[in-house]
Amino acid sequence: MPKPGRAGKSGVPVVPAVPVVPAVGVPAYNVPMSSETTPGASTRSDFIREIISADNASGRHGGRVATRFPPEPNGYLHIGHAKSICLNFGVARDFGGTCNLRFDDTNPVTEDVEYVDSIQEDVRWLGFSWDDRLFYASDYFETLYDCAETLIRKGLAYVDDLSADDIRAYRGTLKEPGRESPFRNRAVDENLDLFRRMRAGEFPDGARVLRAKIDMASPNVNMRDPILYRIRRAHHHRTGDAWCIYPMYDYAHPISDALERITHSICTLEFEDHRPLYDWLIANLPLPGQPQQIEFARLNLTYTVMSKRKLLQLVNEGHVSGWDDPRMPTISGLRRRGYTPESLRRFADEIGVAKRENVVDVGLLEFCVREDLNKRAPRAMAVLRPLRVVLENFPADTVEEMDVVNNPEDPSAGTRKVPFSRVVYIERDDFMEEPPKKFFRLAPGREVRLRNAYLVTCQSVVKDETGNVVELRCTYDPATRGGDAPDGRKVKATLHWVSAAHAVDTEVRLYDRLFTVENPGAGDSDFLAQINPAALEVLSHAKVEPSLAGQPAGTRYQFERLGYFCVDSDSRPGAPVFNRTVTLKDAWARIAAKSAD
Ligand code: ATP
Ligand code: MG
Repeated sequence: MPKPGRAGKSGVPVVPAVPVVPAVGVPAYNVPMSSETTPGASTRSDFIREIISADNASGRHGGRVATRFPPEPNGYLHIGHAKSICLNFGVARDFGGTCNLRFDDTNPVTEDVEYVDSIQEDVRWLGFSWDDRLFYASDYFETLYDCAETLIRKGLAYVDDLSADDIRAYRGTLKEPGRESPFRNRAVDENLDLFRRMRAGEFPDGARVLRAKIDMASPNVNMRDPILYRIRRAHHHRTGDAWCIYPMYDYAHPISDALERITHSICTLEFEDHRPLYDWLIANLPLPGQPQQIEFARLNLTYTVMSKRKLLQLVNEGHVSGWDDPRMPTISGLRRRGYTPESLRRFADEIGVAKRENVVDVGLLEFCVREDLNKRAPRAMAVLRPLRVVLENFPADTVEEMDVVNNPEDPSAGTRKVPFSRVVYIERDDFMEEPPKKFFRLAPGREVRLRNAYLVTCQSVVKDETGNVVELRCTYDPATRGGDAPDGRKVKATLHWVSAAHAVDTEVRLYDRLFTVENPGAGDSDFLAQINPAALEVLSHAKVEPSLAGQPAGTRYQFERLGYFCVDSDSRPGAPVFNRTVTLKDAWARIAAKSAD
């Protein structure tokens, strides 16, 4: 395993690094979240693992298990890819096999090295390693070309001069068989000559294609003489201008699998109808491996788009700030938002692998990160919408240091000192001048607890000329240090707070779902029109306790009563920015309870 810890493209460290000691004069808070763990064995089985077990029992692949994750470098990876990564690398791990990372870079027009780099960073961050097995389909261009000549020599491929429109028209429909191209029965020598001249650049783009000669009457449209090569003068990010013909995905993929001696080529369901072509190529070419293709249902998530084309559109048209915008379902977006690799792997484990399409509630993803952070994220106090509270009977020049437990779920996280003084901030909505019946927080004349500090009573309210409450005048009870009254009297609310003199000004970004509808883009609807304008709320006057100053991007906390937060890469010295990863409220538990009724 490569040791993560270096800064990513956006400056987000892959693992929360050792925190920087905060500004002088304030207590240090050196309790980073315990670092990310490596993936453990999957606790459950699925139909793919059952197939592999059966293959191992029958000796089908000589007991070998070799998988691959084959992204096309035409976008950033998303949570759906995380499912595929966890499956392919997880299967290899569980069966003592190997998993290759292979870039399926056969379409130079849409591909870019930026994507190649981000994909590697994301797979590594998820906790998986391809060791020295990093491959590119473009490395096989010469072999792929040779395979095409082999097919031509065997009379199994031909050069077709029909236009793209004609090829489509000749292909037929699901109900009608296709028609054979007039060029289908060219002699082998003529095909060889034309194909070599295609490669040599003698014909313009689109003038000719190489097609497999299979069966124009096949009920499976994919078997009606599929295109194997097209002429396309495009600069390739690895092979430059060496080629002007490029292989089709359906042709390159099975051959790449066989060259790498993949045993189980796991892909999503839409390739089920392509499997006969996959098998046809493997059967008709002399290749070192005999991979088998197995399809599973892709991940769909509510309130989320997963199509790379749509994600690219969100980025290019500026609907989000970039691929790693924390509202995006990309791995880099989720990372920046504060998701942990553990939570994504747990999510992949929870959803499992099935053969039938379904849609997973995004609440399950939130549940997984909440569970993980609850165990590991240190607690801290932050006030998002501050309201000044002056404790009239607290000495003006005194600072008390309160001992605060860092994580009640993790005794090893220890304690820290939090400064308390005469002026503190509380959350604006923790006070109501005229509280309705069920509002138990602060109100005139009422006593509440300031967490880990004292009981305080609101004596009066200060307003500005327009009548807005700008300050509360309160008193504290010096006998209640730690939060409990010696006479045993009870209060109904405990509020979080930050000492005004010690508070660090921060920007806090709150996120909601990127779309307002459960299935954006469903039917003919315009997914862009379904973007949730309230998906990002920026609070620029938030206050955090001093120990949170100067923490590196990626450091995660639970802000008491508010949710889980993570230092954003936009942070500057003295001006931290926090992203809310997820709220504390467990929406998933309610959903699960409802469906159990
Ligand atoms: P494209 O349309 O560009 O091919 P893609 O989503 O299929 O988009 P790939 O880069 O080809 O992207 O995907 C790499 C691997 O991830 C493939 O094996 C694919 O099956 C898998 N994958 C992609 N999307 C999902 C998803 N939503 N759920 C599970 N696996 C997915
Ligand atoms: Mg694909």
